Amino acid sequence: MAVCELGYLGLGVRDLDAWQRLATAVLGLQVGGRGSDGALYLRCDERHHRIALHPSSADEVRYLGWQVPGPAEFEAMLAELRAAGVDVRDATADELASRKAVRMVRFTDPAGYPSELFHGPLVPASQPFHPSRPMSGFRTAGLGLGHVLVFADDVATMERFYVDRLGFKVTDYALRGSVFLRCNPRHHSFGVSAAGKGPRINHLMIETLSIDDVGRALDLCEAEGFPIVASLGRHTNDHMVSFYVDTPSGFHIEYGCMGRLIDDATWTVHVNDWGDAWGHKRVQEQHQRAMRVDPAKTPFAHMIAKERVAS
Ligand code: FE
Repeated sequence: MAVCELGYLGLGVRDLDAWQRLATAVLGLQVGGRGSDGALYLRCDERHHRIALHPSSADEVRYLGWQVPGPAEFEAMLAELRAAGVDVRDATADELASRKAVRMVRFTDPAGYPSELFHGPLVPASQPFHPSRPMSGFRTAGLGLGHVLVFADDVATMERFYVDRLGFKVTDYALRGSVFLRCNPRHHSFGVSAAGKGPRINHLMIETLSIDDVGRALDLCEAEGFPIVASLGRHTNDHMVSFYVDTPSGFHIEYGCMGRLIDDATWTVHVNDWGDAWGHKRVQEQHQRAMRVDPAKTPFAHMIAKERVAS
């Protein structure tokens, strides 16, 4: 039994107006209405929403919504989670109404991230998705919202939980000790890095259908005054051509295209020693800092040591 995609993301945000301007004027997301608590629903495809921004006194992760295909898979995974001793709580009526899902349960992962398992998202077919600025759209079909990279002190425990309990597969590792996990052909829907303090999101990646969508967003960031924190670049692991913009909540959105798809039949796990093929200036600097911090304490220290002897 396995999760099939990152269905939705819920955030508590302090500055909803700034978020709405970033989401619509720059990113091209469509406002899909408001929740009963004032939440701003954002769409990037046929679904009612993929991102919910809840007005809050703190910028925080409210929930990561992991989807399973249908009711049979939902019941089976719920039974497995409970059998494994995971503290799983049923959704309240308000939560279920807010998520626009048939069924949903809540639990907390080992690093403290509030997580949800659900099936049956609402697709308002009478209101087709329409991006808020001219663009070709978002790549979500069969792949989910995108990917999230989070920080955790104990990456290995997170890997075991997501693989053993939620059915993810390890795609690859970064030498500094990050793990990238997939639940569909997208290279990763979830990444866990030790190079930071959790529970905190480092970034949410959303993928467009065209590089022109990405280029125009770069121009619009400057025009609208949203700080670019990593220049246009390409990652070595998922091949995403992307840039990073700072959000009003202090974490980043990676806005990209041309991400690689993984074929389970032929893929083998490996370790990447570097995150970027080119570009991503400033993220590169962060990688260098992370590598300088404590390479000997990563799970791949023996590989680093061998490299040093060879050189
Ligand atoms: Fe990313």
